Amino acid sequence: MNGTQDLLNFMAASPTAVHAADEAARRLKKAGFKQVKEESAWKLKPGDKFFVVRRMSSLIAGVVGKSPAQHGFRIAGAHTDVPGLRLKPKAMYAKEGYLQLGVEVYGGPILATWLDRDLTLAGRLIIRERAGKLREKAVALERPICRIPNLAIHLNRKVNDDGLKVDKQKHLPPIIGLGDTDVLEQQHLLAMLADAVKVRPSAIVDFRLDLVDTQAPAVGGVDEEFVFARGVDNLVSCYAAVKALIDCKGKCDATRIIALFDNEECGSNTERGAASTFLDVVLERLAMTGKNPRENLQRALSRSLLVSADGAHAVHPNYADRHEPKHKPVLNGGPVIKVNANERYATTVATQTYLQECADIAGVPVQHYVQRSDLPCGSTIGPISATRLGLATVDVGAPMLSMHSIRETTGAGDTDMLAKLLASHLKGDIAPVE
Ligand code: ZN
Repeated sequence: MNGTQDLLNFMAASPTAVHAADEAARRLKKAGFKQVKEESAWKLKPGDKFFVVRRMSSLIAGVVGKSPAQHGFRIAGAHTDVPGLRLKPKAMYAKEGYLQLGVEVYGGPILATWLDRDLTLAGRLIIRERAGKLREKAVALERPICRIPNLAIHLNRKVNDDGLKVDKQKHLPPIIGLGDTDVLEQQHLLAMLADAVKVRPSAIVDFRLDLVDTQAPAVGGVDEEFVFARGVDNLVSCYAAVKALIDCKGKCDATRIIALFDNEECGSNTERGAASTFLDVVLERLAMTGKNPRENLQRALSRSLLVSADGAHAVHPNYADRHEPKHKPVLNGGPVIKVNANERYATTVATQTYLQECADIAGVPVQHYVQRSDLPCGSTIGPISATRLGLATVDVGAPMLSMHSIRETTGAGDTDMLAKLLASHLKGDIAPVE
């Protein structure tokens, strides 16, 4: 299978953060990584390949190296979540002869792009397996079951001149059917969900579901130079990190780690987000050894490097003036190193140089991004993990268009270049700048 098709398969298997972590776990298992659990005792030794999942949607994996105090950690980070729309707890209601679903906005999607798309539902179910035994399960419906219809232009004549204005409370509930009795139809929805995970409808205790676009990811462009897909930000980086960890063979003294976090799009402040203890405790378990465990951990962290991978803005031909004139990344031009004077990106001159050297060894070109001075800058998990753990960090990402649209675009060759760059970093090809 060619690399682009493998990426498309990863994205198609990842309609929510839970599914993305699950797909990463499946690939790691296939490559010989063993799952360890946070609630269990770990007995990892050099050479062991492991992964650990928190609350189903964040995953850390690694290959244990030699003494972390002497060799540190090489870490690649990314996020599993995508901005979108999430069902409210009492979602179903009837209005004007339609059945609709109440939704909340998750993160910062471009709302107008959600209209007139063929949508379905995916997320988490709580299943009662028997009395006193509850289990959380991932679910994804396959076929389109709902849609947020646009208002006809005849009833909204100024839509093209004024732009589409979307009221988050009034204009986002999708239609899911016809009828007046929401209770009955909710039963029907439960039956569909139950069928998808092969349980009785009465076994479903509760759910947390997202609306998801059903259109499959695709290769596009006259020479197949693009990837069109949901969740380019940031499934591309998750895929690249998993591939890099699996692919990077050979001896390495440093412990290689990838950390894929949920909830970046809503600020990372959750028990499984980048601001949580997840990465800290995994690194502690690996480094707090010997006579002076606390000191050994601090020595390990001070020798470590984090590459935070997240989407980067490629220049848009119709809005080229929104870019800083000397920093206009192009699709298929290679990973983009991101810098910000106010440290919205964690890149320093030393970590930037380090990554450039890794790119040289990997034979991968790099590009550079800085936001225009008159536009506020986005951020990533980079500064959060850097702050929590004192890790030297560099922010990088595959160039892309339409960030946070329901359907985004990247270059067909960019993910592979990012994976090669991350592999060079994880392999320990280059020593950090002293
Ligand atoms: Zn992102």
